[in-house]
Amino acid sequence: MKLIICLFLLANLSVFAEDDHHDHSHQHNEQKKTKKSLSAHEHGLSVLNVVQDMNKISFEFEMPGFDVVGFEYKAKKKEDIKKIKNALNILSDYQNMVSMSSEAKCDQEKNSAKVLNEGSHSEFLSEYVFYCKNIDLLKSIKIIYFDSFKLSKKLNINIIADNKKLSKTFERDANKINVEGFFN
Ligand SMILES: [Zn+2]
Repeated sequence: MKLIICLFLLANLSVFAEDDHHDHSHQHNEQKKTKKSLSAHEHGLSVLNVVQDMNKISFEFEMPGFDVVGFEYKAKKKEDIKKIKNALNILSDYQNMVSMSSEAKCDQEKNSAKVLNEGSHSEFLSEYVFYCKNIDLLKSIKIIYFDSFKLSKKLNINIIADNKKLSKTFERDANKINVEGFFN
């Protein structure tokens, strides 16, 4: 039984709606990251929110612990702690997660990675913020995440550009999203 659906009160959608109506300030993002409850998650299904704010673009991954390290209990044994540390290391480098086509000339401004535990579930959260000189020229986003985490089966990608929105679930074999004309 590989797919276990976990029900929590906080659905992903509510987090989204919140983002929509408020400004995209860093402070707001920080507050969201410190949320105490895990959002609803399904093992094997991770979420990537791509949010544009003018010339900035942020990538926020929400990954069930199962997808990243294969377990969700709080790590106590040495080997489990090692797995968590190793995962956070991988997550702290955006090049293990996504890459953007070069025309957009995007440089990373900041990044973060952490793990949250709640009861018998855990979630990894990572975020990468970029400043792009030519965000309107961004043609495609390459998904490297599946290569880094073999246990993850699907990635639900939500793109919120200044003028467009897209929400789609990608399987392991997907490695590129065409976003030509999306960010302007
Ligand atoms: Zn879980």
